[in-house]
Amino acid sequence: MRTLLYSSQTYDRDSFLSADVPADIELHFQPARLTLDTVALADQYPVVCAFINDDLSAPVLERLAAGGTKLIALRSAGFNHVDLPTAQRLGLSVVRVPAYSPHAVAEHAVALILSLNRHLHRAYNRTRDGDFTLHGLTGFDLVGKTVGVVGTGQIGATFARIMAGFGCELLAYDPFPNPQVEALGARYLPLDQLLAQAQIVSLHCPLNEHTRHLINQASLQCMKRGAMLINTGRGALVDTPALIEALKSGQLGYLGLDVYEEEAQLFFEDRSDLPLQDDVLARLLTFPNVVVTAHQAFLTQEALGAIAQTTLDNIMGWAAGTPQNSV
Ligand code: NAD
Repeated sequence: MRTLLYSSQTYDRDSFLSADVPADIELHFQPARLTLDTVALADQYPVVCAFINDDLSAPVLERLAAGGTKLIALRSAGFNHVDLPTAQRLGLSVVRVPAYSPHAVAEHAVALILSLNRHLHRAYNRTRDGDFTLHGLTGFDLVGKTVGVVGTGQIGATFARIMAGFGCELLAYDPFPNPQVEALGARYLPLDQLLAQAQIVSLHCPLNEHTRHLINQASLQCMKRGAMLINTGRGALVDTPALIEALKSGQLGYLGLDVYEEEAQLFFEDRSDLPLQDDVLARLLTFPNVVVTAHQAFLTQEALGAIAQTTLDNIMGWAAGTPQNSV
């Protein structure tokens, strides 16, 4: 089965080629993102393997189906970027990797918290510049702080466990409370109450019509003044211009983002020689109390290995008529 992997980076190539690739699967690595401009590259490929910023909207899916594609194998857990009704209408199967390493993402959320709280991003630059002063680097102890976890599935629950280890008080919001998180002592509350009480809020829910801009101007006003917000979920869970206003007024004290609503045009590419055209992101990057990473929470050896192996198993399962991890 000829399989074209769009948006493939060197680490994808390494992880797939280190996995157990069945003889029936012929892998072709394509660094370009899947868009209407690049979809023709997939002609005669029955399997297209896509990542989070690939375009899987109706026009692209129609062109894929016309070119002979039958299976979209997502290398991600999230599938908010796929037009599922169109895929179904065209007879395109869609499979995903529901869980690869919740630890990878949860630990990255914690890394953002510690970077912001202890100003590691500023200290790193300062010491490299020969400036060994400490002013402006005062942090706070995590023990005893109240942490709000929005979405307590696999990643949120893992994150909650780590924060319980720091001695934090846990609040949670999820339409389906997780007994494992309740067992940590977390209290489930309505979102506005969680936001009003938490000093740190971390988002781990999927992006859908109910969660788009879950954090907006009104919900930011509900938050404790000076609180920290962490988003490793999806960019559109937050209204970014509203975050900028809240940072300017001091209502939001710290912001850690691994995802950005307009990331598709930017992330995973070296654009360091080019003027940044995105004025919202440019403004965000001026704040000393903001850390942005370019959707790297998933990027651990363990997660990459699991993504590669599950994707290969998904393709073989589909080819054998016993699909697994269907969306
Ligand atoms: P999961 O399905 O195990 O958990 C999601 C949880 O969110 C569920 O418990 C669900 O009930 C809850 N939820 C649904 N609607 C909600 C709402 N309106 N408010 C609050 N909670 C709600 O998924 P997961 O594996 O924990 O992943 C969570 C999200 O993390 C994914 O959807 C994806 O967008 C994101 N993610 C990001 C990265 C990254 O690299 N930054 C990597 C993997 C996943």
